[in-house]
Amino acid sequence: MSDSFDVVIIGGGPGGYNAAIRAGQLGLTSACIDKRGVFGGTCLNIGCIPSKALLYTSELYDKARNDFAKLGIKATAELDLPGMMAHKTKVVGELTKGVEFLLKKNKSEAIVGEARITAPGKVEVKGKDGTIRALDAKNIVIATGSDVAPLPGVVIDEETIVSSTGALALKTVPKRLLVVGGGYIGLELGSVWRRLGSEVIVVEFLDRITPGLDGEIAKQFQRILSRQAMKFQLSTKVVGVEKKSGGLSVALEPAAGGAQTTLEADVMLVSIGRIPFTADLGLDKAGVSLDKRGRVITDAHFKTNVPGIWAIGDCREGAMLAHKAEDEAVACIETIAGRAGHVNYDAIPAVVYTAPEVASVGKTEEELKTAGVAYKTGKFPFTANARAKTIAATEGFAKILADAKTDRVLGVHILGAEAGNLIAEAALAIEFGASSEDIARTSHAHPTLSEAVRQAAMGVEGWTMQM
Ligand SMILES: Cc1cc2nc3c(=O)[nH]c(=O)nc-3n(C[C@H](O)[C@H](O)[C@H](O)COP(=O)(O)OP(=O)(O)OC[C@H]3O[C@@H](n4cnc5c(N)ncnc54)[C@H](O)[C@@H]3O)c2cc1C
Repeated sequence: MSDSFDVVIIGGGPGGYNAAIRAGQLGLTSACIDKRGVFGGTCLNIGCIPSKALLYTSELYDKARNDFAKLGIKATAELDLPGMMAHKTKVVGELTKGVEFLLKKNKSEAIVGEARITAPGKVEVKGKDGTIRALDAKNIVIATGSDVAPLPGVVIDEETIVSSTGALALKTVPKRLLVVGGGYIGLELGSVWRRLGSEVIVVEFLDRITPGLDGEIAKQFQRILSRQAMKFQLSTKVVGVEKKSGGLSVALEPAAGGAQTTLEADVMLVSIGRIPFTADLGLDKAGVSLDKRGRVITDAHFKTNVPGIWAIGDCREGAMLAHKAEDEAVACIETIAGRAGHVNYDAIPAVVYTAPEVASVGKTEEELKTAGVAYKTGKFPFTANARAKTIAATEGFAKILADAKTDRVLGVHILGAEAGNLIAEAALAIEFGASSEDIARTSHAHPTLSEAVRQAAMGVEGWTMQM
């Protein structure tokens, strides 16, 4: 077993393991190190995958209880929470094993242990048994991801005061769940537990949910979630929490300051964001610069200020998304291999996997207005889409923003069933520099939800046909 590699990758999440795969494909020797003991990172172990498993099963349960009767199906649904969790655990296990297989297939050595950069080109790994292994690396890729952002004054015990990790593994359905933060993680996990029977209230510091999403979409999204009985308290901050015999007493204050109020809850989910994980990595010793938020600073090619040290994924700037980490992994390794790696950040979609889903790619209306870009808008509601009617999922709409002069697609925002799948077409359109007319004149199968995207594209030039 050699201790010298072309690339040593620290972190086995979507950034790290995809970097290892691409390195193998391009003939580079690599090692991929993760301290977790299981590969796949946050995404596979405590993020994207377990949350989507619970979103799927809880949605089926909710549908069986509330929607089946309207569709002519008589059924009684009974919750088997351990069974639901077992499905989640099985999926996570299969996928993390899959990552190990892919590392092996691409001849990347999977090393379990805590890595530290001791000098440029030098990495030390401390194994579970405390033994130290020293590695030589022509290139070091930092892919250490992110961690839960703490709420000042609040201690997470993963029992009653939980992060997303605890919220993915609650043993009983809390009667009252207070979600701190109206971002995608809070809304997804809030949706899971609401469907399973919790009364859910979301407390958000800002005056809107899902900051970063197109404002019109976010407003309509909040209305739909409210109709599902999710409650919202906006412009409010959590300033403290006290454990009492009957549950939690959560102290709230208006975001702008003012009189305190309290809310009672059984479980509080802290989901106010994530912070880069760059501690105890030896970065200061190696001379790698971090920004004010603790993110590794890189140039557009993922190079840090220290030659031979690179960074990708959640630990550097940009959206904290698995596919962004993956895209950066590919581009970074291609650059290391002497090719021309590149990531088009305008074409990276973002999805909220609630019901309905929300998906977006490119610019929001607010961003275009701020940038002074003249744009045209086309919209189409799912109430007028035949497939949406047949599957009884008519909430929401598709919206396309195109350059007023060139018709180039600048942003696509979809609130509706399967939005996460529908957005792929829009990402491709933006990647290819397509016009709204290109989408409008592309044949879309009937009856599909994708026809709503086409009709919205027609709307940019004012010729929506099916409304
Ligand atoms: C609840 C939840 C749901 C999410 N859902 C989605 C979703 O649906 N879609 C989406 O795109 N994104 C989602 N995300 C975000 C996604 O998980 C991250 O963006 C993604 O995992 C980032 O990949 P990464 O490789 O940069 O880091 P990570 O996946 O965080 O991997 C980093 C790895 O590095 C390891 N590590 C850190 N330091 C060291 C060290 N010194 N030595 C060895 N190993 C180390 C860690 O153990 C970790 O396994 C979700 C996140 C959460 C929490």
